[in-house]
Amino acid sequence: MAEPRFFVPDANADQRIVPLPRDEAIHLTRVLRLRPDARVRVFDGRGSEWTARVVTAGRGDVSVELLEAVVPVREPAVAVTLAIGLLKGDQMDAVVRDATMLGASVIVPTRTAHVTVSSRAGRSGEPIDRWRRIAVASAKQCGRAVVPDIAAIRDVGELLAHAVPGDTWMCVEPRAAAGALDTGVLGAPRPAAALVLAGPEGGWAPEELALARARGVHAVHLGPRTLRAESAPLVALSALWTAWGW
Ligand code: SAM
Repeated sequence: MAEPRFFVPDANADQRIVPLPRDEAIHLTRVLRLRPDARVRVFDGRGSEWTARVVTAGRGDVSVELLEAVVPVREPAVAVTLAIGLLKGDQMDAVVRDATMLGASVIVPTRTAHVTVSSRAGRSGEPIDRWRRIAVASAKQCGRAVVPDIAAIRDVGELLAHAVPGDTWMCVEPRAAAGALDTGVLGAPRPAAALVLAGPEGGWAPEELALARARGVHAVHLGPRTLRAESAPLVALSALWTAWGW
């Protein structure tokens, strides 16, 4: 069985013994019930990973000894920022979980004109903390040594104002699209970074589409059928990696 993996953001090659953060310590002792000497892996969320040995596994005091650096799972060649219109709790959780598995570098929860979730979700820092924990859990599970950054909630207008023309892809309903995402991506050179926008359940407002076009953003579809808002970003990421290489 694969060694269990633990997220230790403070781990670094100069340190031999590292304490585990509280959530990770609880996972190690109470969920997996590991004891001193158990073999585990530790990653720092920025792309480094080590084999490690549990040194102490007491209540509130878990530390591991870093043994050897290992080659982490390769990150995609394109740093993709996924901007997703705010969705209801479990749908948003699923997008964060799956976009982490699918190699997104940054996830930006985005406020748009047709967002239907309560505006309170946009103001409190609470959902961001939850999404960060979900991203960590997903990275642990999928073998990624990088945890995507969950950015603060932003307005779509602000994102579009800073969008890089040509390297920004907005997923839109087929009737509003200039072409398919995969065809558009295959016809252009592979960028170092890209922004992908997917709308909320209520879709994009006409003024948001107009602003995107004015900014030189590719308005692209993902096939002829309307996808659920939580599915579209995952289809988009899969299509991008198929075109760009995983
Ligand atoms: N009634 C809405 C409309 O007409 O725009 C449907 C919105 S859809 C449920 C939510 C989001 O998923 C859209 O804003 C778009 O970003 C994405 N989406 C859904 N189906 C898509 C498709 N076939 N191609 C590209 N994006 C799609």
